[in-house]
Amino acid sequence: MWERLWQLFFPDKCHGCGRFGMLLCDACVGRLMPYGEEMPECGASKFTIAFVYEGVLRSAILAVKYARQHRLGHRLGQILAAHTCLGDEVVVVPIAGSTQRVSKRGYDQAVILAQAVATAWQLPFSQQLVRMRETTAQAKLTRVQRHQNVAGAFVWQGGTPPARIMLVDDICTTGATIAAAITAIHQAGPCQVHVVVLARGLKPDGDLPVETPSL
Ligand SMILES: [Zn+2]
Repeated sequence: MWERLWQLFFPDKCHGCGRFGMLLCDACVGRLMPYGEEMPECGASKFTIAFVYEGVLRSAILAVKYARQHRLGHRLGQILAAHTCLGDEVVVVPIAGSTQRVSKRGYDQAVILAQAVATAWQLPFSQQLVRMRETTAQAKLTRVQRHQNVAGAFVWQGGTPPARIMLVDDICTTGATIAAAITAIHQAGPCQVHVVVLARGLKPDGDLPVETPSL
């Protein structure tokens, strides 16, 4: 009922074209550029990157990260699920964000994405991959610094990991964070990891602009 009332007074509006009805409409999703470039080396058994990080999608991801648009994050998760071919994964796991940045924001965008993907695929969701220490925001660092920054940052808690995991994150640049996450999972036990990422830039190893570095 509250959802209906909310929609009555604050109807969903497309982040791309402004049309009412959805937070990112099907027409705008249809115009997103599929990612067709190479995947980063990170120890994954399968890697899916849905779109190029640009335009409306880039702006939507930044709105989820920095403008508290968590419902838009859920919509992005549905879109990611629709553009991912499910293998025989058994559990969906997010790459947990920095605790400090998550507590400032009030939510973890990777968790929202992964929950939406798990719901869409009717798979269980798990947060057993835990970030053990704070790391500097990767956007400010060079490629080498990124690997040093996240090495050993994660741990798999709660026993042996399931045989096949779908590991979800919003953006991938050099793959350093994903590689650190997969290392932590493999340290806990053998596991095939299908990495599923919403977007990657076309020049991910180049100098990246610092995006709203306040968080
Ligand atoms: Zn639209």
